[in-house]
Order: sequence, then structure tokens, then C-alpha cells
Amino acid sequence: MSRLWSLALLLTLAGCVRSDFNLATQRQEYTLTSTDKEVEIGRKLARRVERELTLVPDEAMQHRVQAIGHRLAEVCDRRELVYSFAVVKDDDVNAFSLPGGYVFLNEGLIKKTSGDDELAGVIAHEIAHIAARHAVSRYESSLGMQIVQLATLASGGGQAAGGVSVAAQAAQLAYARDAELEADRLGVKYTKAAGFDPSAMLTFLETLHEEDRGKSHYLPRGVVRPYYAATHPFVPERLRAVKEAIYGVADYIDYLNTPN
Ligand SMILES: [Zn+2]
Repeated sequence: MSRLWSLALLLTLAGCVRSDFNLATQRQEYTLTSTDKEVEIGRKLARRVERELTLVPDEAMQHRVQAIGHRLAEVCDRRELVYSFAVVKDDDVNAFSLPGGYVFLNEGLIKKTSGDDELAGVIAHEIAHIAARHAVSRYESSLGMQIVQLATLASGGGQAAGGVSVAAQAAQLAYARDAELEADRLGVKYTKAAGFDPSAMLTFLETLHEEDRGKSHYLPRGVVRPYYAATHPFVPERLRAVKEAIYGVADYIDYLNTPN
């Protein structure tokens, strides 16, 4: 890897940096990715998702999700995007969003929710990831880390590059946790503003928590369940964040239950 090449890449990127105030995160953010570029990336990824996964043929279910989704999108912090909502055939209790306004929910998650308010909480959380540009920042920060690694390698510091890689992974985990909590806080804001009951986010998180606990019974003795586990990590912390966002304060017991 030539040092010149790394330098050229850095300069190219530096030339495209723009600064925007993000209404969702209330932060001034520096980014390399314009909204147009973000939508283009999101659209390509969404097409791939639709090719590889099957959309549920139940039109009533799709319409219900779209109606709730658009109600929330109208009150979110990033209204310049065109949002789309779709249910995919998958029994896992999960949902995900792509940059640029694409939200996907698994059929398994819809079946697990009870009522529109719980469903609204899940969709609001996904819209919040998009409004806060979590995926874009995450992509850009990993790109930043790669540049640091390249630069370190180029200067002959192989050992140091290993250190950077561990730090990069740690930063990503911390970032994911903060992003989840931020999406929950914004989710409360959006569900309230759209006229849904935000406390349904609590009941649904509790359902997820119960499910997680049920699963852990099948682990053999002595196996420690990783803290950053599975697709719905940090549930106790998320419960606390949502309670704080709704009521302004969390129960003392929630602090005791939060693993460190
Ligand atoms: Zn999330």
C-alpha cells in the first residue's frame, strides 16, 4: 500500500466533507455522504433485500404497516426523505432500516406485537435510525478507521495497526449501543407526536426481554451469554432509556437490573 495513495484518498475525502445540523441528534455533523448519495445507496440495498427476501403477499398487513409508518414519518425529524415500509417473510422477531428511508419488518415481529401502538413503537425506532443517520455515520466511521489502519501500515507499524483494529471494534460496539438508545428516545418522541401510546414501546421490549430469557435456559451450564448478543441486545438499558424518555425518570430497580 503506497503512502501516496493513502494521502490521495484522505485529500479526496477531505474535499467532500460537508457539515449539517442533524435535527434528530441535535448535533452539528460532518459527513462525506450527501442525502442524494444516501438515497441512492439505500435504494440499491433495498432492491437487493427485495431480491433475496420474499415480501409477504398479505396486502392488508402491508397496508397496515405502511399507514402506521407514514403517520410516523410525517412527524419525524427528517421529513425530506420518501419513506417506504415493507413486511418480509421471516419468522425471526426483527426489523431493520436502510439509509435513505427504507424500513423492513419481519413477519415474525408483526405476529409478536399486540396492536398498532406496539407496532408503531418498532417502526418509530427504525425511522429514528434513518433520521439520526446512524448507518451512514457508522459506515463513515469504519471508513475513517480503515484510513487510519492504512496509514499505520504504510508507515510500517504493523503492531500498531492491530491495536487500531481492536479499538475500532470496541468503538463500533459502543456506537451500536448508543445508537439503539438514541433510536428508542426518538421513537418515544415520534410515537407521541403521531398520536400513538409510547408506553407500548415498554411492553414490547418486555416481551423481547422475556423471550431472550426463555432462550438462555437452553444454554449449557457455565456458558456465559455474550452481553452484545443476538439481534436485540441491551434490552434492560433500552427499557431504562424508554422509561426516562416517557416519564422523565426510570425506576431505581432498572438501574440495579442493568448489567455493566
Ligand atoms: Zn435499532
